[in-house]
Amino acid sequence: MKLIHKYNMNGYNIVVDVNGGAVHVVDDVTYRVLDYYEDKKVEDIVGLLAGEFSEDKVREAYEEIEGLVEEGLLYSEDEYEFHPSFVNRQPVVKALCLNVAHDCNLKCKYCFAKQGDFGGKAELMPLEVGKKAIDYLIANSGSRKNLEIDFFGGEPLMN
Ligand code: SF4
Repeated sequence: MKLIHKYNMNGYNIVVDVNGGAVHVVDDVTYRVLDYYEDKKVEDIVGLLAGEFSEDKVREAYEEIEGLVEEGLLYSEDEYEFHPSFVNRQPVVKALCLNVAHDCNLKCKYCFAKQGDFGGKAELMPLEVGKKAIDYLIANSGSRKNLEIDFFGGEPLMN
């Protein structure tokens, strides 16, 4: 499937070619033309955007998009195929990240976790919940010998 993802951030119009990974910063008219590019002819898009942009601008943006498509930088093919053995495999769990302390005793101003509680209620994971999580990991780990458990927070040593 040929896919793009477009969004606006800090005043920039950003377009990502999902399969190829190319990232473009585009002007307003190109950003709008992309709303219709896949399904409509350029004549129709000119009409649809008549109240926003001149015909010349829309046609110019359309041609630029076509150029990017030809270069494989937009709407590129998805060349990745799942192997049947991967699709049909028995899923296993190999790692857990346990948020054992939804709290922190340091309260750094720059904290990514809003001082440990992520802006919610500060809580510690009960021991029973942690034990059940580990039982679940082992029960669903198939034949794996090495498993991983991360203790996360906040400050995990509070618990
Ligand atoms: S979780 Fe880390 S960054 Fe946040 S307040 Fe605690 S020590 Fe500071």
